[in-house]
Amino acid sequence: MMAESAAMPVRATKRGDERTPLGGDRDVLICGASFAGLAVARELAGSGADVLIVDRYEIGERQTSACGIPTEWLQRLGLMAAERQRFDTLVMHTPHGTSRYRLPWTFSTFDYRELCQLLWRDCDASFETAKVNGRAAPANGDGRIAVETDRGTISAPLVVDALGWRRMLANGDGYQPPDAPLSRGLEVHPGGESEDLAIWIDRKYVPAGYGWSFPAKDELRIGIGSFDPRFHVKKTTVELTQDLGKEPNEYQGNWIPHKLRRGTEGGVFFVGDSAGHCLPLSAEGIRTALYFGMALGQELRGVVEGRQTREQGAASYASFHDSHEWKFKWMLRVQKLVPRVPPRILAPLLRLMGTKRFVDWSFNHYLRIAPPEYAGSKWADGSAHDQDGPGQEQDDAEDATGAERSLV
Ligand SMILES: Cc1cc2nc3c(=O)[nH]c(=O)nc-3n(C[C@H](O)[C@H](O)[C@H](O)COP(=O)(O)OP(=O)(O)OC[C@H]3O[C@@H](n4cnc5c(N)ncnc54)[C@H](O)[C@@H]3O)c2cc1C
Repeated sequence: MMAESAAMPVRATKRGDERTPLGGDRDVLICGASFAGLAVARELAGSGADVLIVDRYEIGERQTSACGIPTEWLQRLGLMAAERQRFDTLVMHTPHGTSRYRLPWTFSTFDYRELCQLLWRDCDASFETAKVNGRAAPANGDGRIAVETDRGTISAPLVVDALGWRRMLANGDGYQPPDAPLSRGLEVHPGGESEDLAIWIDRKYVPAGYGWSFPAKDELRIGIGSFDPRFHVKKTTVELTQDLGKEPNEYQGNWIPHKLRRGTEGGVFFVGDSAGHCLPLSAEGIRTALYFGMALGQELRGVVEGRQTREQGAASYASFHDSHEWKFKWMLRVQKLVPRVPPRILAPLLRLMGTKRFVDWSFNHYLRIAPPEYAGSKWADGSAHDQDGPGQEQDDAEDATGAERSLV
């Protein structure tokens, strides 16, 4: 095992001479090889389309979150081998007391690298490391979209932006904090074990947002998320970590969108954080990236198999995306409300909400925003790697995470 202080991100990404020119035409170009991009590519497997997926890092190289997800999503997608730990209870700490909610469904933490590789195992796309710079001017009027990368210009009639909150392939002036509707999240990964999936609603750590500790077998993923992008979360991430008797290490953070954006724009398809698919209030964006990624992959498959035109696929995806808007708006309303509740009312309120009936009702409704049944059983049934239990351990060196240090 690697000592915590020595853990450094492993750079598998091609450098120097290995960075050969990249260009040409593809049937589908997917930009971003994390949850959303890989979910799209997986749905296209076997379609016969020439699919290229690009990312600035190798697949699974840079962990982008605490990697918590409802267990059933892992089961249905045949991804159980990546599971690290499972929880049937959520512990909620406030300055005035602690509540323990028994959940109507279980929640799991997983290993990022392993999960990405399991998704990739089922894809038949090709992959290249390349940094996407944005859209290039179209070469001609044939409906192809050209994307400029640091290795050249690639074009395709079907282009997916799964690049995260920056939404790089959109038209317009960009999307920058603190003005854009973005939350701020930062976490650390000290070694240790715990049975408790815990969150803190405590203004001592963050005026609007929450702290968390997500145990993952032999490490704790401890962090702070602020709905207000102006609040710097590093100091209180350190504070919470030290309050839990740990020392912060391996900082990893990012901006988290908390508002739905358009699913299609200028001929490009947006999915995952680039479409604002991360849920407000909980900042849960993995399940939704997979869910909308599958939906988009199926629409694109219809196009490459000649069952619909690109425009029909775009209209159908946009309509699926838009049909979720009210749920995102509702979550955003609650996100705005929570910081306004006086602290002394919060604890009794949370205790009151801890009745089994209320917990079952609210958590089941919450799960239905992107229900696991949507994933069907196609992947779960076909997966030789599926196993009912925590996934395998892996070398810490491979597991090393990257920090978006500029955020700190
Ligand atoms: C600290 C923190 C903890 C979180 N914890 C959880 C959690 O436990 N559960 C949960 O559900 N959600 C969590 N989230 C939210 C979740 O991480 C995101 O919603 C989710 O990662 C979105 O997936 P995505 O595939 O859309 O984007 P991302 O996972 O952000 O992936 C984007 C991909 O695009 C690549 N990329 C970006 N820019 C470029 C470029 N210019 N060129 C080439 N490639 C590029 C990146 O390398 C990356 O692979 C957390 C977020 C943060 C910040």
